[in-house]
Amino acid sequence: MTKSCPNCKEKNRDSAKFCEQCGNILNGEKTIKNKSKINNAPIRWFKKQNTGVKIVLVIVGFCFVLIVILGIAIFLFIFIQTFLKVHNIT
Ligand SMILES: [Zn+2]
Repeated sequence: MTKSCPNCKEKNRDSAKFCEQCGNILNGEKTIKNKSKINNAPIRWFKKQNTGVKIVLVIVGFCFVLIVILGIAIFLFIFIQTFLKVHNIT
């Protein structure tokens, strides 16, 4: 007795839980073709998290972006100051 994969039609052992050919779950349910699991993984993981974790992640992300922008701004400020001194522009 074999199970045929709903995704790629590969014949698998009846006891197999996943397709040996494509890794599709062999539970009889159809899966959507061409659905990119890799691209959606971080988004799906994020959606699984509870509200508290989401807020913390958003704040951490926002702070990180803010620090990067601030760092670039400080760098440019120092760079312009040094440039003006070197060229005696006041
Ligand atoms: Zn398959």
